[in-house]
Amino acid sequence: MLGSLSKTFSLVQSCKTEIVMCTAGDSTEIIILSDDEEEDSEKDSENNQSCLIIEDGKKTDELLQSDSLVPSSASDEDLVVTFSRRADVLPHARYDCPIHPFIAADCETAAPLAGNQLICDQCFCYICDKPASSCVMWTCSGRCHCNSHKKSEFWNNLRNSFLLGELKMFNFSLSEIDSHLRHAEIMLQLFRQEVSAILSSFIRGQIVQQDCKQEVIHDYTPVFNFVTSFLNKADKQNSRAAAVLNLGAAEVFMKHFQVSGPTGPSPMSNASNAKVALLQRVATSVQRLIVMANFPPGFVQKLQNFYQKTTFFPADIKSMRNSLCVRPWNDVLLVSVLKGQNVSGVRKDKGKKTHLTEEMSVVLLRSELLQQECRYRELCRYLKVVQTDDSARFQQLQDLIPFFLCMQGDLTEAMTSLFPSVNAPACRFSPQLFLTYLGIFQTAKAPKLIVCQPEQLYCPNAVWEPIKDAVPLKCVDLVKFALKAQRCSAAVYKDSQCWTSLLTIVNSSTAFPQPSPEFLCESRHVVKSILLSHQNSNVTIPRSFHEVYPHQALLLLVTGALSFRILNGALCPALPVINTFKDNMWAFRWMFENLAVSEERLQSFFQDVTQEVANSTGSPLAVNLILS
Ligand SMILES: [Zn+2]
Ligand SMILES: [Zn+2]
Repeated sequence: MLGSLSKTFSLVQSCKTEIVMCTAGDSTEIIILSDDEEEDSEKDSENNQSCLIIEDGKKTDELLQSDSLVPSSASDEDLVVTFSRRADVLPHARYDCPIHPFIAADCETAAPLAGNQLICDQCFCYICDKPASSCVMWTCSGRCHCNSHKKSEFWNNLRNSFLLGELKMFNFSLSEIDSHLRHAEIMLQLFRQEVSAILSSFIRGQIVQQDCKQEVIHDYTPVFNFVTSFLNKADKQNSRAAAVLNLGAAEVFMKHFQVSGPTGPSPMSNASNAKVALLQRVATSVQRLIVMANFPPGFVQKLQNFYQKTTFFPADIKSMRNSLCVRPWNDVLLVSVLKGQNVSGVRKDKGKKTHLTEEMSVVLLRSELLQQECRYRELCRYLKVVQTDDSARFQQLQDLIPFFLCMQGDLTEAMTSLFPSVNAPACRFSPQLFLTYLGIFQTAKAPKLIVCQPEQLYCPNAVWEPIKDAVPLKCVDLVKFALKAQRCSAAVYKDSQCWTSLLTIVNSSTAFPQPSPEFLCESRHVVKSILLSHQNSNVTIPRSFHEVYPHQALLLLVTGALSFRILNGALCPALPVINTFKDNMWAFRWMFENLAVSEERLQSFFQDVTQEVANSTGSPLAVNLILS
């Protein structure tokens, strides 16, 4: 209804002066549509009508040239003959009726003025926004709608309350109301009625038999359940309607009070507890919608005002008043941080400093949205500077910056960001997380996930997809990454599977020729000095070592690290680690010579491997090892 009517208005208002020529047989009709409010006063009363029907018989040329109808300048510039056919009278508000004259008065509701009650079949009631013929108040004495028109504040207010209903308390204008909000309005009306019936029985209470005496309990649970099911329905509506329904419901239930006396057994039988739980749910839902749904700023402002002004907050949850005060996405400071123009998160405006500070829940929502939209670079900039209230959860989110850099396609920068000199994310590596990063760096593919803590990265069901513009790291960089991670994280250093994965990379899938005995001998010192150098967190591999036998040198470096690991303590299971050497037995023998420095550890390692062989179906390499 509203749609069809406003369409009519926009047609009328879009034409400065439009002449519609209508021809059918011999008769010629011309309708002049004109509606330009500023100019109305300057025009004579005939032109002041938005529709003018010219009687049959006048010639079109005469009409167009007639000075009395339109000024000559207007006829040159502003007259457009758009089409020529018999006139249809389009739907119009009663005050615009081209057939029945209308008398305007400011707020006359007693009875129809002059002939204002007369209607054609296209007349609409301005208040009800439906055909005047179906308006039940049209001529209703004392409340009649037939005198309504848009140039009166009285009638406009009446129209707004009539059409907005429950939505009026949000201060929405009619132009903001779409079919979803209209449906929400009906849902809210019903909610208000139904919840009040359930509330009445809560207030009356229920008589129960308790230890030979009767008492009245007031159990809020049925109200809580009803509100919950309404909020469930609300969350399934489109985002604007969902926000309005959540807040509209909160306005209703926050006015409920616990009745003194015993309650029921469930925690939600007490109205005060239940209200807090419900309000938290509402605030969470609406906060999410505000961050995720891209509402127009004016709409968000109205939601925030409604929540703060209309919702009743008991003293103990006063702080929740600010739950919906979320920076809009177009906030100057936020935008400058996301775009990389502000790397401090601080904005100075007229001597006043503003920090980019947000609730953790908001930080999580922004992070989710930026991941959905693959805006990883912006997400990293945001996470580096935003300040928030929950440091433990925020640390977990910040630990994902290296992953987001991977997703951005820059694996080298991602690797660097795992090992800053203070508070390195790699220090909190679990073996699985290490293996995930090793996989990403090796393949330039990553699990397709939206995450808020590192543990979520090793989801076994995640699909790994190629990262746009990313190039896999070279073997030497993978080795450096792994050795650094082992230094940072004891869990990674201890874990057998981490060793197996690293050794699989350096053993490659093909056998490398055995290097010269001199090189093997020299390597022992070089490898030791690389591994034991702790001057900085970097792993530096001398060019001279890497040059002649590049693959073998890396294999010996990792094998050397493995011998230190075995000398350090039991490695279990050992068989998968040993099996990675199956094509490069010379490197395996080289390791054994390293282990010879501790007869005790060597024996213990032998025993562990023997035990594993006995417990398993057998491994050719390990059997060889035992036999040799
Ligand atoms: Zn009419
Ligand atoms: Zn009406």
